[in-house]
Amino acid sequence: MELKYKRVLLKLSGESFCKNGGFGIDGDCLASIAERIIQVKSLGMQIAIVVGGGNFLRGETFSKASHIPRHTADYMGMLTTVINACALQETLEKLGQPTRVMSAITVSAICEPFIRRKAIKYLDQGIITILAGGTGNPFFSTDTCAALRASELDVNLLIKGTKVDGVYSDDPKKNP
Ligand code: UDP
Repeated sequence: MELKYKRVLLKLSGESFCKNGGFGIDGDCLASIAERIIQVKSLGMQIAIVVGGGNFLRGETFSKASHIPRHTADYMGMLTTVINACALQETLEKLGQPTRVMSAITVSAICEPFIRRKAIKYLDQGIITILAGGTGNPFFSTDTCAALRASELDVNLLIKGTKVDGVYSDDPKKNP
């Protein structure tokens, strides 16, 4: 069967890693996501995943509620995406799926730096490539990162897993 989408990029919001309204990482949510990703992978697609970090921290909200300036809060937010990436990596690998974590910010003890050509090589080898650290820049979001990486990696489809059920011009939780 000819695949319609050979290479896809999945953006997983941090909230996909925990129960509705929860915080941090829930093992069952994580396992359920990993199982579904593997089902898609078994169709033969190449999969890159950009992970968010909102289940731990969102820089803008956190800086407003603390004495921590936005830029530092954003770097903290980027670090939380590395935590999610490591959790997803271990879960996928436990289920037999080879993975790599590449980060836009250097955390050399646990993941590799994002290098476009290397990411493409991993994807071509059938390795699920988890992209952490957002764009590596404060004042951006992991959604922007997903669009950026989707373009860089020449994916056929960018898809977002989130609890918001559509595309809105404003936050649907605040503005019905
Ligand atoms: N972040 C950032 N630059 C980026 C990506 C993310 O500064 O390129 C920070 C920002 O503080 C953001 C946090 O990391 O709030 C977590 O990412 P995001 O809010 O996009 O996560 P999601 O809503 O997808 O869970």
